[in-house]
Amino acid sequence: MNRHRALRRALIEWYDRNRRDLPWRRTRDPYAIWISETMLQQTRVETVIPYYEQFLRRFPTIQALADSDPDELMERWAGLGYYRRARNLRAAAVKIAHEHDGRLPEEVDELRGLPGVGRYTAGAVASIAFDRPAPIVDGNVRRVFSRLFEIREDIGSAPVVARLWEEAAELARGARPGDLNQAVMELGAVVCTPRTPRCQACPVARRCGARAAGDPEALPIKKTRKAPREVVSVAGWVARRGRWLAARRPPVGLLGGLWEMPGGDLEAGETPEEAIGRALRERLGLVVKEVRPLGSVSHQFSHRSLELHVLEAAVAEGRVRRAGYDAHRWLSRRAFGALPLSAIAQKAIGLASDPR
Ligand code: SF4
Repeated sequence: MNRHRALRRALIEWYDRNRRDLPWRRTRDPYAIWISETMLQQTRVETVIPYYEQFLRRFPTIQALADSDPDELMERWAGLGYYRRARNLRAAAVKIAHEHDGRLPEEVDELRGLPGVGRYTAGAVASIAFDRPAPIVDGNVRRVFSRLFEIREDIGSAPVVARLWEEAAELARGARPGDLNQAVMELGAVVCTPRTPRCQACPVARRCGARAAGDPEALPIKKTRKAPREVVSVAGWVARRGRWLAARRPPVGLLGGLWEMPGGDLEAGETPEEAIGRALRERLGLVVKEVRPLGSVSHQFSHRSLELHVLEAAVAEGRVRRAGYDAHRWLSRRAFGALPLSAIAQKAIGLASDPR
C-alpha cells in the first residue's frame, strides 16, 4: 500500500469516529460551508459558532447577502474582527448573483476569481461542498505535515510551502476529499497540537517522522520574521452638544470601512497635541481650541505595532468638511460604542470620558 493511501485510510477512520459535531458539518449547503470557512480564518471555532448561526439566519442565501446593507453587515460581523472578510463576502455574493446565476461555482479556479477567496478557501469549498479533489493547507495542516513528513526547514520558505501543497494534493486525491482535508485539520486542532501533541492518540503515529525522531514539539520550524514597523498615531475625542464625533475610514486599506475617533499618524517632530490639531483640520476641517491628553493604548497588527494617543479636543463651531474619511456622525457614547469599530478604537473609547 503506498504511503498516501495508508494515511488516507487511517485519517478517514479516525475522523469518522472522532470528529467534533460542528454546525457547518451538519450541512451540505455550499453557501453555508463557504461562510463557515471564511469565518474560521483567523478566528477560533468557539467564537465562530454563534456568529455563523446568526449570520445564516439573517442572510440565509447568496442573494440575501448580495442585497445586504453594508453597514448592517459590518455591525453583525463586529466581534469576529478582520472586517475585510465581511466586505469581500458581500462583494463575492454580488458577483455570484450577477455572473454565476446565484450559485457558488464548483471549481477551484472559478472560486478563486471571487473577492476574498484564496487558495485555502477555494480548496475548502471545492472539496467539502463539491467533493472535488482540491488540496488545502492551513496552520493546522502545516503543523501536522511538518511533523508527519519530518520537514526540518523553515515552514514559510517557498520550497516548503510548495511541498506542503503537493502533499495535500496527493492526500486529497482519494475518495471523500473534503473529509480527508477536514481530518488533517481536525487532527491538528485536537491531537497534533502546537505544544504537547497527543501522539499516543494519533492515527498516523506509526508513520510519523517527528515522533520516530522523538521531537515533534520542535516542528514546525519558523524563521523569525522582520520586526513590525512602529507607528504612533493620535485620536481625538471631539464633543459637540453632548455628542461625540465618529468618522468612518474609506472602504479599502487598513481597517477599511470601520469607525473610529478621528485622527491620524504623528509626523516627524510633532507632539500628539500638535498632531491632533493638524489631523482634525486636514481631515475634517475642524479648528481645535484646546486639547487634553487622556492616555494611550497600543495594538499589534501583523506588520505594524501601533501606539495611539487619545486626546480630548474642544473644537470651534463650524461645518465638518471631510477629506480622508467617507462618513461622519455625532453620536452618544453608547451609539458610538455600538458601531463597527476596530479593536484599537474600542480600546481608545475605554479611555474617553463623558462630555464636560
Ligand atoms: S504522531 Fe504526534 S507528532 Fe506525529 S502527527 Fe501524530 S500527533 Fe503529530
